[in-house]
Amino acid sequence: MKTRRIGAIAAGAALALTLAACGSDSGGGSGSGGGDSKGLKIGIKFDQPGMGLKKGSDFTGMDVDVAKYVAKKLGTDEGNITWVQAPSAQRETLISTGQVDMIVATYSITDTRKEKVSFAGPYFIAGQDLLVRADDSSITGPDSLKGKKLCSVTGSTSAQNVLKKVPGVNLQEFGTYSECVAALASGSIDALTTDDTILAGYAAQEQYKGKLKVVGKPFSTENYGIGLKKGDTALCGKITDAIKSMISDGSWQKAVDSNLGPAGYKPGEGNPPTPAACS
Ligand code: GLU
Repeated sequence: MKTRRIGAIAAGAALALTLAACGSDSGGGSGSGGGDSKGLKIGIKFDQPGMGLKKGSDFTGMDVDVAKYVAKKLGTDEGNITWVQAPSAQRETLISTGQVDMIVATYSITDTRKEKVSFAGPYFIAGQDLLVRADDSSITGPDSLKGKKLCSVTGSTSAQNVLKKVPGVNLQEFGTYSECVAALASGSIDALTTDDTILAGYAAQEQYKGKLKVVGKPFSTENYGIGLKKGDTALCGKITDAIKSMISDGSWQKAVDSNLGPAGYKPGEGNPPTPAACS
């Protein structure tokens, strides 16, 4: 009851602010997420514990914390964020069609993706690794994948990298990593490959504890960026400033500790990164 009242008051206050913003002749209003507490639609993963996870109406993970911090700096409170599920293969489309304002979803900055979207960042550096069953000692790295059934996700750099690194590898591509994990646990595939951040989160999940292990020999560099509409340099500049301040005021380290710490994950070399200039 109490919280509902407070909610109503907050909603009233938000409405008043919105009306005030409409009344004032600021001219802006669209595009770059100004300071008028407007809503933001942010794409995240829903099934990657430690990075982006939806549980009921709760959203947790490093990406979620980065998104909340950035939104706050853009003038958007947590309650005004609409979380949108952003599977790997759909990220560029979600951005270019305006279904999201930005994407914070283990999204590696690549030249190919830069043809369609712009990136602020990096805000984190991960590396591609392998997740196998705990009792499997036959897979020690990409070189031992011959004759094994491998799983990854459509539209990911993980699938692309491994196909280049191990030509002819038996790769099955699903829509999400959680589908791969289930297949790994049930024995229908032998290994899952993607970023070590994501793999650590699955290995530490209650239902997989002691059943799965990360090989622990990263074989790529994944620079996580915040994807946004191509060419919106004003928004990109604001997001870059927010990332820099998240790192310098200690919030970045706190978010790493609380989201990745429980899985025993320690950020590798290059972290925290220095965000690049927007182009
Ligand atoms: N970071 C890689 C990528 O952006 C793999 C993780 C993912 O698919 O989200 O493709």
